[in-house]
Amino acid sequence: MTDLPADAHRVLDRGFVRLDGVMADDLSVANSARVSFGRRTETMSDEDRGLVRFLMRHRHGTPFEHNSFRFHVRTPIFVAREWFRHRIGSFNEFSMRYAEATDDFYVPAATAVRTQVGKPGSYSFETVPPELAEEVRESLGAAYASAYSTYRELLERGIAREIARAVLPVGAYTEFYWTVNARALMNFLSLRSHETAQLEIREYAETIEGLFEQHMPVTYESWVANDRAAP
Ligand SMILES: Cc1cc2nc3c(=O)[nH]c(=O)nc-3n(C[C@H](O)[C@H](O)[C@H](O)COP(=O)(O)OP(=O)(O)OC[C@H]3O[C@@H](n4cnc5c(N)ncnc54)[C@H](O)[C@@H]3O)c2cc1C
Repeated sequence: MTDLPADAHRVLDRGFVRLDGVMADDLSVANSARVSFGRRTETMSDEDRGLVRFLMRHRHGTPFEHNSFRFHVRTPIFVAREWFRHRIGSFNEFSMRYAEATDDFYVPAATAVRTQVGKPGSYSFETVPPELAEEVRESLGAAYASAYSTYRELLERGIAREIARAVLPVGAYTEFYWTVNARALMNFLSLRSHETAQLEIREYAETIEGLFEQHMPVTYESWVANDRAAP
């Protein structure tokens, strides 16, 4: 199992989120909006806080773009696939072409093994009896072990990593860097912290939401007060 970096926040069984770099504060929102009036301040005042709230309420979105969060993330591939749909931001991912894949695979906690009920478009998810949850966890573990063993065997027989990786399932962990501004981040959080989002990506979104709040508390509060709608 890959080590957890010291500054990482654990998510799921083997995943994490790290804030690898950040250039973000609430003052940049107020100052970029005020450039139209030729004004700039050095410290955040009550007036600036009011301006941030006003911009959020009236969906003046561009002042929320003058900042940057760079996250380093380890997720199962199926979570990364959902994440990469967010086009406003930059990604670089561990490709498994140049380095070997690890044997890190996602096994949900027993309480996260669920069944879906209802119709397409309005499913709800319910837990399953503990014995079934345990059997599912064991089945996943066995399938992962078999896939990883075939992967190793292919490499040992001289097959290129870019072909051998084809045998690995979407429960395998991958790593990527994601750089995003607050406006696109709020859009991501609106969609992915929402109860309709898949539980696994929601857990990452909730961790990221805490980091966003730390760096841009006024923007964060205004967004929450605005029904979590991105400006
Ligand atoms: C619960 C849930 C279920 C989903 N199910 C599916 C599914 O079944 N199948 C599927 O394919 N996807 C699915 N998605 C993905 C979804 O359709 C979006 O691709 C994803 O959420 C990214 O959202 P976004 O486009 O707002 O984000 P971003 O790509 O980051 O874009 C941010 C904003 O920029 C603007 N923007 C970006 N690109 C364009 C553009 N080309 N034209 C105009 N405006 C643009 C829009 O205002 C957009 O909201 C699902 C998402 C969620 C949250």
